[in-house]
Parts: sequence; structure tokens; C-alpha cells
Amino acid sequence: MHGSLFAVPRSDPSPAPKPAPAAKAAPSAAQKALQKLGLTRDIDLALHLPLRYEDETRITPLANARDGDTVQIEATVTACEVQLRPRRQLRVEVDDGTGTCELRFFSFYPSHQKTMAVGARLRIRGEVKGGFWGRQMLHPAFRVAGGELPQALTPVYPTVAGLPQPYLRRAVVSALQRVDLSDTLPPGEEPPLQFWSPNGGRRLWGLRETLTFLHHPTPDVALATLEDHSHPAWQRLKAEELLAQQLSQHQSKRERDRLRAPALRPAPQPSGGGLALHEQLLAALPFQLTGAQRRVCEEIAADLARTVPMHRLLQGDVGSGKTIVAALSAVIAIDAGWQCALMAPTEILAEQHFRKLVGWLEPLLAPLGRRVAWLAGAQKKKERAAMLALVESGEAALVVGTHAVIQEQVQFQRLGLAVIDEQHRFGVAQRLALRQKLAPGSAAGPPQGDAAPSGDGGKAWGPSAPMEPHMLMMSATPIPRTLAMSYYADLDVSTIDELPPGRTPIVTKLIADSRKDEVIERIGAQVAAGRQVYWVCPLIEESEALDLSNATATHLDLSEALPGVVVGLLHSRMPQAEKKAVMDLFTSGAMGVLVSTTVIEVGVDVPNASLMVIEHAERFGLSQLHQLRGRVGRGAVASACVLLYSTGDSGRLGETARDRLRAMAETNDGFEIARRDLEIRGPGEFLGARQSGAPLLRFADLNTDTALLDWARELAPQMLDRHPRLAQQHIARWLGGKSDYLKA
Ligand code: ADP
Ligand code: MG
Repeated sequence: MHGSLFAVPRSDPSPAPKPAPAAKAAPSAAQKALQKLGLTRDIDLALHLPLRYEDETRITPLANARDGDTVQIEATVTACEVQLRPRRQLRVEVDDGTGTCELRFFSFYPSHQKTMAVGARLRIRGEVKGGFWGRQMLHPAFRVAGGELPQALTPVYPTVAGLPQPYLRRAVVSALQRVDLSDTLPPGEEPPLQFWSPNGGRRLWGLRETLTFLHHPTPDVALATLEDHSHPAWQRLKAEELLAQQLSQHQSKRERDRLRAPALRPAPQPSGGGLALHEQLLAALPFQLTGAQRRVCEEIAADLARTVPMHRLLQGDVGSGKTIVAALSAVIAIDAGWQCALMAPTEILAEQHFRKLVGWLEPLLAPLGRRVAWLAGAQKKKERAAMLALVESGEAALVVGTHAVIQEQVQFQRLGLAVIDEQHRFGVAQRLALRQKLAPGSAAGPPQGDAAPSGDGGKAWGPSAPMEPHMLMMSATPIPRTLAMSYYADLDVSTIDELPPGRTPIVTKLIADSRKDEVIERIGAQVAAGRQVYWVCPLIEESEALDLSNATATHLDLSEALPGVVVGLLHSRMPQAEKKAVMDLFTSGAMGVLVSTTVIEVGVDVPNASLMVIEHAERFGLSQLHQLRGRVGRGAVASACVLLYSTGDSGRLGETARDRLRAMAETNDGFEIARRDLEIRGPGEFLGARQSGAPLLRFADLNTDTALLDWARELAPQMLDRHPRLAQQHIARWLGGKSDYLKA
């Protein structure tokens, strides 16, 4: 390519404040704005790419400017006056020898009038409106004519208030001059680009060429290929981004593989060949595990037996029976002499787990003098202190709770396994905290006494090997394959792909809320038949902005419409004790209808509930709807889900809302739902908690850049082996300090 093309072009001609401050000066508003955008390092600025471009490389004769064109002209002012009617404005007339144009400014300063005095020669840029009365531009950009025309298109960057384009442009230009853009792709490992350079050439552009081009492309570029990111320069950049992400994932997997964890295998049974705890638990269950449950249990048990910390995601559709898998994993840890923690995102869910696990485990633990402990935010001080003591002494074999489980005061005697239910509900920081909960005492070496693991488990503890508990994360929101490969490449995945037998599929119906009365009738019939019903409302209080049904009002309405039926109300602002009381009544079957906000969304398990009504279903996300629907269809009773939708004033549903509701009616399969959700929403939103702080892909698109993703996945492990220095350089450049987040 021609040398001049990749020289950093002149900075923007318009006046701009100086970038890069002297060391101690207080940060200016613009510098603060740069920080806010995360543009702190030169490389961040270099990778802050334009949204679009303006062509200031050409002067268009006015005679050639057509209605609607955005053009740059050079012309002489022939008139300049302030008009007061119909409103105060500055009216300027210019002539470039081929034609005339009228400029109008509704806000202006005296300096405008000075610059645009009659006789001044100006360079003006704006959109031409050419009516019968002649050409006109509203609020065009202008400056005194003269100086060379830029050779490249002018970038327009994504920005925020307080950060003007000219400032940002200059900051990018000087960052590009300073920053090290030496290539980090290993030689001979070019990504599979259709064209390697824009002229169809086979020489791969370097990173500097690529970025210089994307910031300041030559005017002959096909703008469409820049906009849809199909241009070779974009392709190359996307390949680099995907590679950085894959490198970081593989690296964190390797780091974890160097960590140590206690090998958890059922100890040989003491005194007279009793059954191992997990065998006792299986024998006591009122049901048989499904094939899928048995398979994932084996996968988990194999991981637990290793001295490398497990990092496994257990995914299975709502109702697939993940809890018993967690319980079986827990007893393996307990049998091996370690503690297990189980954390759930809401108190209701945690409480329900607690009750279930107490029922399953206490009969087995009691003879061993061990217990299940409970930790939650709303706990009484005294009870909490007692629980903390149980955890610290090790008497608590299993600790169940909300995020209270990871608080500082909680000291495990020796935590061997941590289970996180509905893991996508937790933030990265919380998952990291749980990983760091292995008590310092046990980090020094294997447990002492007869619970010590035998065989190679014992000798694996070097004095310096950091110890971590095994981690089992559970989710009913399955991660689609492409996402799993790119965001969770460091995670092992077990999938329960089979529901327990005897479930009748849930029938889903879309019903306009004008037919609410019919729905209420149906509720009456269900309750009369001994079934129970959930009614979900989106918000708890009337909001002026959004005319949402109010759970309290709905509660009253339903109570009135269904005389003789116990109708309960559950919402997120109720005191914990009250929530518990309501939940208890519903679980026991005494309450026929439970009106609630989305607090019941996760994990609640009442097999006798057979009808779920979701009001304003159009306002919920797809995964959320699926989770809610999963609260019914948990027993053998035929169950239904009614999605009540409101079309509002327009009388029609929006397109995405319609897509979502239709998807719900069409399939009960959580994986299919997740796939469609990804399609409708894109990965950013889908990943939820990971979004905050996690470097999501900015440039690449997992759905369309599959060839580049495959390339990056294959190259990453090889590059870590053969070009470790380049790999580190690449990760640092692309992810900076953020790569930690990907490890959680
Ligand atoms: P989820 O995967 O949504 O967390 P749960 O663990 O709450 O599902 O299980 C849903 C229901 O199915 C529970 O009542 C549970 O006891 C029951 N269950 C789990 N496994 C089986 C099985 N193999 N056979 C019959 N019922 C089962
Ligand atoms: Mg569950």
C-alpha cells in the first residue's frame, strides 16, 4: 500500500483542547468522560472505532449538490443578517460561483456573525435541502476556508456528553502515534479472511495498518463494508478479538488446573461395611434417578475424585431434577470428610432447598453427629451466631443459604465443594468470593485424621499449591453452544437432557387480557379440582409511567372473584417472615391461588400447582417466561400456562414481544428457548451478570463470525504453548485488567 495512506493523517482542523494532560493537573471534563468510556490506555483509544465517517476530502460545487446530499462546499458570504421573524435566527447567504445557498442558524453567538461576515470565504459542511426557493442548510458546520483537504474520511466516534468529537479525534490520533501496535499473531497463523487486504491482495495487513485504516479510511472505500464490518480490516480485527478471548479462557483453565483441591471420594466405610452416604441417600429416595441424572452424577463424581478443582456447569431444564444431583454431590464431599456449601439467589429458594436437603440428609447425618446449617440475611443474631459456630467447628456438614454464605464472618472448617444454584443470577464477584472460601487451615495440607483421602490424593498437596473448593454451578437457563464455546471455554458442562418420567407437557396459551374473566373462571375450576394456581404480575406498585397491573389490586380482584378460595400475595418488599408464611401456606396446599411478583421466578417447587397465569407477559424476557412456566408441570397433573398479554393503546404487540410469546407457545424445550432468546436479544443481554465487567465481544459476532471463532479456538491453546510471550501480549492488549472477570 502507499506510504502516505497509512501515515497518521493531520488531526482534525477544528480547534480542540490539548489532549494528554500534564502530570498533576486535575482531570478535565473531557478526561473524565474518557475514563467513563473506559478509554484510559492508548490501546483503548486505538481500539475505540468510529461509528461512521464524514467525507471532508472533497469540495462539491453547489450546482452539483442535490436535495438531501451531505456535502462540503467552499463559498463566499454575500449576506449575513439577524432576522426576528418568524423566530430569531441568523441568516447567511453564500455563493461558490456555481450556485448559491442559504444558511440558517437558530442559535448563534456574535462570533458566528464575525466569522460569517460578508466577503468571508468559508468551508461549510451540511445537508442540502433544495426546494423551490433555492438551496438551504440548517446549522451547517463551518470554518474559514483554506488549508489542505484531509486525505482520509473523518471518523465519528461513539461518545458521551462532555466529550466533543474533535477532542476525541485528537486523543485517538495521538494515542495511535504512541501506542505499540506490533503484531501479536504468530507468524504463519493468519485468520481465514476472504480477502486479506482491501485490494483483494494476499498480504495480511498488520495491526497498525488495520487500525489506521479503520480510523481514517481512504475516500474510495465502500462505506457499506465498513458499516457491516465485512471489510478485511474489520475481519482482521474481529479475529484478533476472538483470539484474545479464547486465549484468556484457555489460560484461566490452565491456571485452575495448577490449583489443588481435596480429592473427594467416598471413604472406605468404617466399622462393618455400611453403605456409603450417597448409596444410602439413593436407597431412601422415593424415585429412581433418570438416566441423565445418573450420567451427570458420574461426571461430577469423577471430577470430585481429582485433586484439581472442579469447575462444572450443570445445566438442565426447569424441573429436570438438578437438586438431587447437588445433594448426591454434597454427600460425596461429606463422606470424604469435607464440608459442602449450597448458595441460592433468593431466600425463598434457599429455604426450599434447605428444607428438602434437611429431609434427605439429616437422617443420614444425624448418626454421624453432623447437621445441615442455614445462613440467610434475615436471620436472628443468636441463630446466626449458632450457625456460624456449626460451620466453623465442622459440625455443619452442609451449609445452605443465600449470599450470606459467602460473607466474611463465615469460616468453614474445610470447604470441599461449593454449589451455586441458578448461577447466572449471581455476579462475578460473588462467584469469586465462594471460590476463595476454602479455610486457611485446610490450605496448608490435607485434612488430618481418618477422613484424610488416601492414595494419590494425599501426595498431590505441595506446600505451595493454592487450594480451592470444587465448584458446581447449576442453571436452568442453558447456554447455547456458541456461547458456551466462547464465554465458558474454561468450564466443563454437564447436561440433564431428560425430564423425570410421568410429566405431562405444559400447554401454553396466549390470551389477550380482555379475556381475563374467562381465565379467572378457569382458575376457579382448577382450585375446585384440588389444584393450585400461580398468578404472576410484573410490578408491585402502580407506576405512573408504566401502566402495569398492580399485584395488590390483582390480589383483591381475585379474592373477590373467587369466593371461598384462599388467595395469597407474595411480593419482593414483604418482610422475610411474611414471605415465608405465605410460601408455607401455598406449599402445604392450604392456599389455592398465589398472586406474586417475579419473586417466585426461580426454582420454587410445588408439584400440585397446575396453572400458571402470567399477566403482561409481553413485558417479560423469554428465559424469564420459561423459568416461570417451569413452576408448573412438576407433577403428573396436566398443567397449563396462560400468557395474558396487553396490546396497550396501539392495539398491537411489538414485534419482539410477539416473537417471544410465539416462541413460548411453540416449544417447551429450554434449549430451544435459549437459542431463540439469543437470536432475539443478542449475547450481551443474554449473559446477564457476566455483562458487568466482563469484556463481551465488541466487534465480533458469534453467529456470523463462526469461521473466525473456529480459527481462534484452534489457535489459542497452540499459541499458549508455542508463543507464550505473544499470547500474554495479545491478552494484555485486548483485555487489559478485565480478563480476571472471565475466570469467575
Ligand atoms: P430443577 O432442575 O428445576 O431444580 P428440581 O430439582 O426442583 O428441578 O426437581 C423437580 C422435581 O422433580 C422435584 O420435586 C424433585 O423431587 C423431582 N424429581 C427429581 N428427580 C426425579 C426423578 N428422577 N424422578 C421423579 N421425580 C424427580
Ligand atoms: Mg432448581
